[in-house]
Amino acid sequence: MATIEIQNLVKRYDDGFPAVNDVSLDIADGEFVILVGPSGCGKSTLLRMIVGLEDITEGELRIDGKRVNESAPRDRDLAMVFQNYALYPHLSVYDNIAFPMRLSKNKLPEDEIDRRVRRASSMLGLDEHLERKPGNLSGGQRQRVAMGRAIVREADAFLFDEPLSNLDAKLRGQMRTQIAQLQRRLGITSVYVTHDQTEAMTLGDRVAVLKKGRLQQVASPRELYEQP
Ligand code: ADP
Ligand code: ADP
Repeated sequence: MATIEIQNLVKRYDDGFPAVNDVSLDIADGEFVILVGPSGCGKSTLLRMIVGLEDITEGELRIDGKRVNESAPRDRDLAMVFQNYALYPHLSVYDNIAFPMRLSKNKLPEDEIDRRVRRASSMLGLDEHLERKPGNLSGGQRQRVAMGRAIVREADAFLFDEPLSNLDAKLRGQMRTQIAQLQRRLGITSVYVTHDQTEAMTLGDRVAVLKKGRLQQVASPRELYEQP
């Protein structure tokens, strides 16, 4: 669990154009913040700066009060879930979920890894698929494996980059419910990029609207989407 403090964050790519421009946002412990805005407005860039996959040009990033501008992704201990799942095709579901724990520099004992994989799989309804390879799974099952991999790390926060955008409407609804339940159960600080208004309405404590790299508005889903 963690707070995420974003202060005057700027990202300039090599061409000098500010993809993220002076964004400030305080995210409380356990809060679920949705990031919305048109394509190219800087959502992914902001997420990638928070997780540490993109250098910060200007500004300050604090996780649980500690400045992390220069620390590697591993030292920030945030778990990211991508829209393309990023699963390892040659590994079983079990090994895909266990992978980040085996990679970690503070490696857990194998029986603790096993306990966490089984607990996450049961939360996500994957118990019966642990020996299968990702290529033999449905889109929704793959997405759940990606979620499982994030959960087992017991990271300080989750960062989601349009995790459901590759799923059909029915699966998207099911996964949305599952993410909402997980969030209630785990109460973990989350930042979630989406284009989907229903996801923003059902998952978000607050919605942050980005436009051309700038934060335009931060409001509750109700304030933002419901007519007065
Ligand atoms: P979004 O996720 O909201 O679609 P992005 O964060 O991907 O937006 O992109 C924000 C802006 O930064 C866009 O103008 C995009 O073209 C630019 N951009 C993204 N990644 C790079 C990169 N690696 N190099 C240069 N410009 C980039
Ligand atoms: P570095 O290369 O700075 O030492 P790491 O060894 O921690 O960083 O991570 C290596 C790669 O693993 C990163 O470039 C990234 O692709 C991936 N990675 C690490 N941590 C995360 C994370 N929390 N979320 C998503 N991807 C990550």
